[in-house]
Amino acid sequence: MPISRRDLIGAGSPEALVKRILQAEPNLPVPVPIQELCARLGILRIEDLDSEEFEGGLVIDAERSEGTILARRGGEPRRRFTIAHELAHFLMAHHVPDHPGRFRCRSSDLRRVTAKEGDQRQRREVEANRFATLMLMPPHLLRGAMAAFREPNLQHVLVLARDFAVAKEAAARAYVQYHPERIAIVVAGNGRVQRCYRALSFPDIICAVGSPVPTGSLYHTSPHRPNIASDIAACSSDLWIDVKRDLRAPDLYEQVYLQQNGFAMILLRLEAAPEESAEERRLDEGWRHRFHSGRR
Ligand SMILES: [Zn+2]
Repeated sequence: MPISRRDLIGAGSPEALVKRILQAEPNLPVPVPIQELCARLGILRIEDLDSEEFEGGLVIDAERSEGTILARRGGEPRRRFTIAHELAHFLMAHHVPDHPGRFRCRSSDLRRVTAKEGDQRQRREVEANRFATLMLMPPHLLRGAMAAFREPNLQHVLVLARDFAVAKEAAARAYVQYHPERIAIVVAGNGRVQRCYRALSFPDIICAVGSPVPTGSLYHTSPHRPNIASDIAACSSDLWIDVKRDLRAPDLYEQVYLQQNGFAMILLRLEAAPEESAEERRLDEGWRHRFHSGRR
């Protein structure tokens, strides 16, 4: 691994940092060797963090030339994300810790995707998460992996999570972002909507966070075995999206993957409403004409 801190001089955003790292390491394997990267970039040690309160931490010297990352023991994907997140704090000079020389990050910090305007602490946590996501799933490697996938399927999310050694939810988020079709993934916990990830082309999901998964969803209407992705089935599109009354409802499909911890992923795939054929339009217009002229 030839990379060093010199390759990163002047890069101040998560995107710029990842770009430079990928330029210096064009043949980065999957899963990305995050610990090796840390070692090349000035992290002397990665130690276990013994804390109920914090998920990760970073100790730096005054010049920020060396650092020690602390990460709570746990599943490998979660620990890798924590390490990448702390590496971001180390590499971004404008990330100033709450206590001199010492960052401490809660699990809520590691999930943060938006920051309140003017809140520098939240902003730096969001930046560290952006770096970790991009670093563990570099866009070009993700696109390469996804080129083999065709029809949207939660099996692909599981393959990405396994190959990139990231959490299933992180893989799900990347999947909807990079898949060319109109898809969304709803994360449910104990029967309630927890989070929704959707492609830009997918409409707003009408089920608010915290509300129950709709009773007509495949999640309820069919039994699911944990850790096995269900078949894909059509559902009523107004379960999840706002369907205009005067328009033909687009076809919506669902697939469910139940995890053992009470969480589930629900894949939603939207097909564009088919164009009316000329024949259909003629019949429709004819019917409307008869209706209006009272000759039914
Ligand atoms: Zn942090």
